[in-house]
Amino acid sequence: MNKTREMKYSCPYCGREFDITVYESVNTEQDPDLRDACLSGDIFRHSCPHCHTDFMIQYPLVYADPAHKFVLWLTGTNAEEEAMRKYARVLVKQGYQLRRCSTVREFTEKIQIFEDGVSDIVVELAKYDSFIEFIDSRHGNPAEVTSVEYQNVTDGVMKINVRTDDKGLSFLIPINLLEEEIRAESDRFAINEEDFPLVNSDWIISLFMESSGQA
Ligand SMILES: [Zn+2]
Repeated sequence: MNKTREMKYSCPYCGREFDITVYESVNTEQDPDLRDACLSGDIFRHSCPHCHTDFMIQYPLVYADPAHKFVLWLTGTNAEEEAMRKYARVLVKQGYQLRRCSTVREFTEKIQIFEDGVSDIVVELAKYDSFIEFIDSRHGNPAEVTSVEYQNVTDGVMKINVRTDDKGLSFLIPINLLEEEIRAESDRFAINEEDFPLVNSDWIISLFMESSGQA
């Protein structure tokens, strides 16, 4: 069931109001086209009918992929947490992975990661390690890094790209090394699926801050 609702929106450029249709939930089994629009982020792209400017509107969305057994909840608030918790318990029993996403970028990346059948905890650790390596090997300073992105996994090796405004650098990390690191400190990396946990850069940085006593 793909539930939509109409809402009034004020254009951030010309200030005039118009109606937009937003999705409250997307189920990939029932509408594969919407999966493509979510992965590309196009589902959040709108155009003002008055001044014809294109822009992204991030709104709460629940994305369910029954084939790959994951549910993503894109939200900026905790407003619906109670309702989501009840939903969560049922889904976890059915073997689903549940994640909250705070940005469209996190949301689209999670779709790719879970469709690839990769652990997003492993991905966040790989991104963290790549970022540290990028800084330590003096390729740039932290302020210059614009993004750290998951690319793919080939033959057990994960590829991560660290980008600045004018360059990008790829890091290749064997997954078994990352999994070993996580297994050695399984308590630190533990998450509770029923909480719709955030597993993102803020999350992994907070884990390392806690352990070094900076939190
Ligand atoms: Zn406008």
